[in-house]
Amino acid sequence: MEFYRSVPKIELHAHLNGSLSNSTLAELRELKYGKESLRDASNDCFYKILNGESLSLEECFKKFQYAHDLTDRKDALERATQRVIEDFANENVIYLELRTTPKRTTHMSKREYLSTVLEVIKKTPDRQSGIIVKLLPSIDRSKGVVEAMENVDLFIELSVLFPEIIVGLDLSGNPFGTKFSDFVPALQKARGHGFRLALHCGEFEDTQEVQEMLALGVDRIGHGTFIEGDNLAYAKKHQIPFECCLTSNVKCKTVPSYKDHHFQKLLDMKQPVCVCTDDSGVFETSLSKELEICAKTFNLSGETIVEMQRNAIEYSFANDDEKKELLSRIEQFSKTVNISAV
Ligand SMILES: [Zn+2]
Repeated sequence: MEFYRSVPKIELHAHLNGSLSNSTLAELRELKYGKESLRDASNDCFYKILNGESLSLEECFKKFQYAHDLTDRKDALERATQRVIEDFANENVIYLELRTTPKRTTHMSKREYLSTVLEVIKKTPDRQSGIIVKLLPSIDRSKGVVEAMENVDLFIELSVLFPEIIVGLDLSGNPFGTKFSDFVPALQKARGHGFRLALHCGEFEDTQEVQEMLALGVDRIGHGTFIEGDNLAYAKKHQIPFECCLTSNVKCKTVPSYKDHHFQKLLDMKQPVCVCTDDSGVFETSLSKELEICAKTFNLSGETIVEMQRNAIEYSFANDDEKKELLSRIEQFSKTVNISAV
């Protein structure tokens, strides 16, 4: 584990709310409801979180509800964003692309929500020089097309104020009951303003939808579990990187087991691929753990794991100077650690 922890890592698929650790959830609960609430947590499964007990998948998913409820005020959202960045930095993640859907709460407008996250990220280099953080604001498909367009307008407006931080956008949320083609105008508008597109793609079997996403021009494929045949050939031809989130897929049962994960297939066909956490808090994992699982499941050397981080820099939406800096940090690591012994 120590080796995987020490490798300078690149995280390209992490949702803010899903990345809140158990201790951060407890901290936020106390912030919102007071100390008493921690003692009185037995009426829901929060006590299991506090005690570090193992949770069922259903209970894990409750963490999303807690996270949403506990980040409805500016101070709590600030704290949450700081903690997530700290947690990744403590894992030696040197570059992080965070995703979040702007939410309207009783205390914040969507604009205030996103600005709060952006302000925390902007201050990060002073506080935590070890990590570069970007934001991919998300469009939640289940909220419909009108909101998607409204969000894109907001993202464009904020990207002018935070041009170094907002580098792309994410399309996520429950895909069932929505048609991807309805979202194309909003995504095209964003793309016209220079946004890179990291879309949750091929999470379920829908060949036509994947085809439409590829035709639009996706910069990175989130999961890509069910991309096959002509679509896979297209992704190969255009060398579109896949973001693989092993534990998330295994726990959500979109793949039967680690060894059956489509990572192996992508590796065999030399497809650009990076390992990501998705929701490290909800699925109780970390990028170090994911890399270790990946290495052990697919029999990868330490060299390969480091090489994957080098490649992930290329797939990131960082600018050229940042890419150079990140590469040099990995080179530095390679020089000081005997990787071939791993
Ligand atoms: Zn995701």
